[in-house]
Amino acid sequence: MPAALVAAGLGAALAAGCGARPDVTGLGEAAAAPPRAARNQAAAQPADTTPPGTAPADTAPADTSALAGGGPIDASAPAPSDTSAPASIAPDTPAPTVPAPPTTTAPPPGAYAGADAAAVGANELGEVPILMYHQIVADPKGVYDRRPEDLRAELERLASEGYVPITAADYAKGDFRAVPAGAHPVVLTFDDSTTSQLTLGADGNPAPDTAVAILFGVAAAHPGFRPVATFYVNKDPFAESGKTTLPWLVAHGFEIGNHTLNHTNLHNKSSDEVRMALATLQNVVVTAVPGYTITTMALPQGAKPADMAAAVDGTVGGTTYHFAAVMLAGAEPAKSPFRADYNPASVQRIRSQGPDGPEPEWASTAWLDRLAQHAEVRFTSDGDPNWISFPAAAAGDLAPAYAARAHPY
Ligand SMILES: [Zn+2]
Repeated sequence: MPAALVAAGLGAALAAGCGARPDVTGLGEAAAAPPRAARNQAAAQPADTTPPGTAPADTAPADTSALAGGGPIDASAPAPSDTSAPASIAPDTPAPTVPAPPTTTAPPPGAYAGADAAAVGANELGEVPILMYHQIVADPKGVYDRRPEDLRAELERLASEGYVPITAADYAKGDFRAVPAGAHPVVLTFDDSTTSQLTLGADGNPAPDTAVAILFGVAAAHPGFRPVATFYVNKDPFAESGKTTLPWLVAHGFEIGNHTLNHTNLHNKSSDEVRMALATLQNVVVTAVPGYTITTMALPQGAKPADMAAAVDGTVGGTTYHFAAVMLAGAEPAKSPFRADYNPASVQRIRSQGPDGPEPEWASTAWLDRLAQHAEVRFTSDGDPNWISFPAAAAGDLAPAYAARAHPY
């Protein structure tokens, strides 16, 4: 990948904010996808120039069929909303509906106690890969499925390249305490709560070749590679109502996130429908894990509703939800939550994918290659969670709320 293309891609991604990305314009156009420059240009054009989407891409067919009651995906729906099209599709919502970063703005206690920031290349305004997985199966049915050996290899790669998994909730809260100096956070997310992700055997342990078993295996072989992840679940989680699996996940340090009850594409849904889809799923989780607080959510198929505020906060009956971050379905690294241009209502994820297949340049292998080649754009911890270290030239990128914690070098 030429460096110029990388730089253009990263720069354009920042400039465009939440631009048109392949996951949300549909896999069907993948083969004819315009080059990156054209794509980014298109992102700034009115909605009617946006290429028509086909069936949205978040889920494999098996997933939607498993969600009885959710109905088939409406393939006639316009390209869902992460496309940045400014007018007719839900816009990239501006500040009023965005939750404020929850991290304290108070001055940090004590002096900086981290590593030599320059020596470790600390950049806590850098990019964080949030990887998106679906089914982990021996016989993939589409680009969203990965084989157990694919997942294992990707996790091995992350471990060998100095990544440390944190949950999406940790990321959203700006909590990087688990990431040592010089290491990089990565967020592993698994959508749709399928049995290929977690099935507990008769012995109470994850069955071989499930995602959780693979993660445990890699973590055991790589001290420091934490076996944590975030699971965005729908109703009947892991095909056992979540009765055993959800408490097990929480007890083992995993995060449970909201993916709506019926895997509803929220584009064109009313505010009440959005709230109902989220509140009812929250009730499923809290029934299985009393007292559990869901912190983050992932939009099915990455599709935003017109009323993004309803996707962030809501109350239905006696159920109130609030999300510190709303995850999209693609297709680039996420911004540091400490940046001024970070939008917690539109957090990018990266589809896990090898170097081949549809639009591999937007998927995990290519992005991890780029982050390895351009380490200066990657989030690298300073080892002191109270201070936010970054090269002095990037000072203008820091959100004002974090000014008291700034540690430029
Ligand atoms: Zn999904």
